[in-house]
Amino acid sequence: MTSRSFLRLALAGAVASGAVTLAALPADASRPPRTVPVRLLALNDFHGNLEPPTGSSGRMVDEHGDTVDAGGAAYVATHMKALADENTIAVAQGDLIGATPLISAAYHDEPSVEFLGKLGLEVAAVGNHEFDEGYAELRRIMKGGCHPVDGCSPAGEWKGAKFDYVGANVLFKNRHEKTDALAALGGSDSAKVKQALSGWGVPALPPVSIKWMNGVPIGFIGLVTQTTPGIVSSEGIKDLTFVDEVKAANVASKLLRLVGVKAQVVLVHEGDQVNQGQSPDACSAVPGAGNRIATQVDPEIDVVLSGHSHQAYVCTVKDPAGGDRLFSQGGSFGRVITQVDMKVNARTRDIDRASIVADNHVVTRTVTADPEISAFVQTWKDRVAPVANKAVGTITADITNTAAPSGESPLGNLIADAQLAATRTGGNAQIALMNPGGVRASLSHASSPAGEGDGVVTYGEAFTVQPFNNLMQVVTLTGAQLKTVLEQQFTGGPNNQAFTKILQPSANFTYTYTDSAPWGSKVSDMKIDGTPVTDTQTVRVAANNFLVGGGDAFLAFRDGTDVWSGPLDIDAFVDHLGKDNPIAPPATDRITVTG
Ligand SMILES: [Zn+2]
Repeated sequence: MTSRSFLRLALAGAVASGAVTLAALPADASRPPRTVPVRLLALNDFHGNLEPPTGSSGRMVDEHGDTVDAGGAAYVATHMKALADENTIAVAQGDLIGATPLISAAYHDEPSVEFLGKLGLEVAAVGNHEFDEGYAELRRIMKGGCHPVDGCSPAGEWKGAKFDYVGANVLFKNRHEKTDALAALGGSDSAKVKQALSGWGVPALPPVSIKWMNGVPIGFIGLVTQTTPGIVSSEGIKDLTFVDEVKAANVASKLLRLVGVKAQVVLVHEGDQVNQGQSPDACSAVPGAGNRIATQVDPEIDVVLSGHSHQAYVCTVKDPAGGDRLFSQGGSFGRVITQVDMKVNARTRDIDRASIVADNHVVTRTVTADPEISAFVQTWKDRVAPVANKAVGTITADITNTAAPSGESPLGNLIADAQLAATRTGGNAQIALMNPGGVRASLSHASSPAGEGDGVVTYGEAFTVQPFNNLMQVVTLTGAQLKTVLEQQFTGGPNNQAFTKILQPSANFTYTYTDSAPWGSKVSDMKIDGTPVTDTQTVRVAANNFLVGGGDAFLAFRDGTDVWSGPLDIDAFVDHLGKDNPIAPPATDRITVTG
């Protein structure tokens, strides 16, 4: 089924059943209508949630203030069909893939991208997680072909995304790289476009996508958080630079204007936080990085749909010319669809700002799940089941990722122990450090829906904890560099740590930090196996490739030398879960905190 056929079929069905009344033709059919309606249906941060997400990830506060179950591809499809009309363009704001459940991740997210194609998605901004497996892999997802290492999925050769991925602020570091960015503007005056781009970098992705609706072109500008290099593994994006979102949007906006596109929508994978418990339609966003973009991009841009912060909000902000501009986001994991209705003046081809009405719809599960998508998800569930349900170890109690006052969590400590165990031999690791944000879920002692006995951990459960397929690495740091890494856990340093992130240490590494001490002298008393660490000695430190690349603002890791690459983090974890069973939750006593 082709990209838009799903919505078209849905519409045809609705018309046949009398559910939709098509607008009557104007009395004088030769006279063009003054305005044409356009409806956007937007998703963000889907993160491969083909199956209904569980726990708090599967609940949402609705318009009435009630917390309801939400999300799941088959429910997204039902709601999309109900909301779509003949004027609809479906769009998305990134992180559709990456950090996904095993059902999607085991096949490099091809199932999720195929689902989104079936849904009728036409254009999506890239998010930071679209770069999780590197730029080359993102290109493969966009264009098709089998995975270079793992080969074709059970569905056969990957045909490529049925929608356009756009990212105007993703440029090549090397300006001479070949690009299809100009071709993406299709049929435009290439000399003018080249001139507009002079002095600008060479785009690594199509910056914009133009969709025609009712005879008017709508330009979609893709943007991804400029913080992407700090939150994805550096190796896969080493040829790319992520420039200021506002500057890139303004260049793209000019390009669109050059080719006569004045109805302009930004799809940006950056957003703001909200006060919890609010209606998804409330504007409780606390002005941050998203608001900066929404208020500062060119006044020609009419609408800013955002993502990344996984929050739901519908705001009206002021553009630089003082005009009202929509700024919204639709939660995450397929729990919310943002509907934007607007009218485009057919003569000026610009959006009438006053006509814009936006509404966040919660993807409830009280509707009938779409049968086609249910069957599609079940097919992938069946394919992955033998992998997901395999028992990999046993535990004596819940092992949680909840931080103790020291910042350690039992599960974080267990993972650090697993990482040290997996890197001692090949990489000569002496200690391991794990980023807390990478411990994505807790391990539950209770039996899972798969029905295995109490205390059994399945591969699927382990994968939910460690879903990134990061590579384990070992680097040599001096004792002084190791101390700098630990200082970089705290805010206030030159690395601009956004909030305190305590690395989870392996059991043989202990130290003390003093909360009240100034940045740079908080950490003391570092010991490996009880022996004090000196500034000048070397230490082989195991960490995932995200941290080793300087991720999460741990820039001092980049000073590491003699990099050794070992197994995947999930493999290290699964190996460790199979040893010394049953495993008790590790104590959180490796770090001592003093006032
Ligand atoms: Zn993101």
